Amino acid sequence: MKKIFPLLLLIYLPIIAADKFDYNLMQNKIDVLHYSIQLKISDTSSEISASTEITFKAVTDLRELKFNLKDLQVSMCMINNQQLLFEHGNGILTIHLQEIITKYTIHKIFIEYNGEPKTGLFIGKNKYKNFAAFSDNWANYASSWFPSIDHPSDKASVSFFVTVPKKYEVICNGDLVERILVENEKVKYVYNIKEPIPTYCMVVGVCDFAITKTKTKSGIPVYYYTYPEDSLNAVKGFNRAADMLTFYEEIIGTFPFSRLSIVQSSTAFGGMENSSVIFFAEKSSSFTGEKDNEETVAHEIAHQWFGDALTMSDWSEIWLSEGFATYFTALYFEARDGKERFERIMNSYKNTYRQNTNWKTPILYKDYKRISELLNVETYQKAALFLHELRQKIGDKDFFKSIKKYYSKYLHSNVTTKDFKKIVESVSGKNLDSLFAHWLYFPGLPN
Ligand SMILES: [Zn+2]
Repeated sequence: MKKIFPLLLLIYLPIIAADKFDYNLMQNKIDVLHYSIQLKISDTSSEISASTEITFKAVTDLRELKFNLKDLQVSMCMINNQQLLFEHGNGILTIHLQEIITKYTIHKIFIEYNGEPKTGLFIGKNKYKNFAAFSDNWANYASSWFPSIDHPSDKASVSFFVTVPKKYEVICNGDLVERILVENEKVKYVYNIKEPIPTYCMVVGVCDFAITKTKTKSGIPVYYYTYPEDSLNAVKGFNRAADMLTFYEEIIGTFPFSRLSIVQSSTAFGGMENSSVIFFAEKSSSFTGEKDNEETVAHEIAHQWFGDALTMSDWSEIWLSEGFATYFTALYFEARDGKERFERIMNSYKNTYRQNTNWKTPILYKDYKRISELLNVETYQKAALFLHELRQKIGDKDFFKSIKKYYSKYLHSNVTTKDFKKIVESVSGKNLDSLFAHWLYFPGLPN
């Protein structure tokens, strides 16, 4: 996502503060394969009525299941049409199994719940005082509105069945499968994304959208979902988005999803890289047709490759998402606008880094207390400077060859710094121990 350094940092922290110890203990016990989320959202209440069916593979023998689920009220948990006992508290839903589930078997658990999500899913009014509902999951607020293993290491595909009053449109990750009229002037939108994505990127948006469609040179559909009041200006403000996709396909690899939507939303971030459906802040200047936001647009689009298709195995490796998106922003403008703009952007990273000397933690840092601490000038700006240093050390040819190889090898899976380093070393034939160690394990810029 795109944060604004440094002034908004303090304002943002309370909103995005998320406890690293929130995770349940199922991370290495099950592997979620698919979420099927049924949601009913109305414009007269901030409560949702919902159910989620989770398809998972047991990694060990299991007597109980634990999922992250914040403040909602659970009414039923069921496996093979058999209701199960459960407990729900402190953000964890514990389901007691009647029979042991043996390892390597695949199962579906059905969980029904309702209530008002306190975080993660905003239901209210947009800046024009019209009804709007938008998810804002980062970092672990997906579990504010659906039970999940709410950690980037467990990626899954997801289907959405979202019922709303007929006058609104719904946007979710992936493809719109169908739009079904249901009783009482309501409509059910069915979306599906077949690629596994992290929970922090699984989203729903509901509003009276104006929808505009364009496509990239290679034919990837690009949609703009904007408030009707801003739709004409948005086409101007985002007019380089399709070309950004084209550029990243050239230097990284094929776009990882079937379509891209750019959505005006009430996200707390400047932009949030939800897979195939990027949410931009409703007040973003792109929606008024300005150009000054195009670096944020490039940043979020680059995240579709780094963060979404290749996802860090742990939050402590977040530079593999944010550092890459930050550097690949500069690369787009280097290729399209020239060296001078590239230098300007890289210098702005350096200056922002130097102005924020209060960050004493390195790029790779496991001892954080809150995930939001990891959004800092080390993991964004310094990580981008590191990638540039790496490119200069091994040369453009090997750098970009490494990027392509890294992407194709780990497409739709999780990555670690070691995975990346191993590929760069094999392509360049160089031992990069000391370069990686100096830049990633110590705060501050190496001499
Ligand atoms: Zn980002």
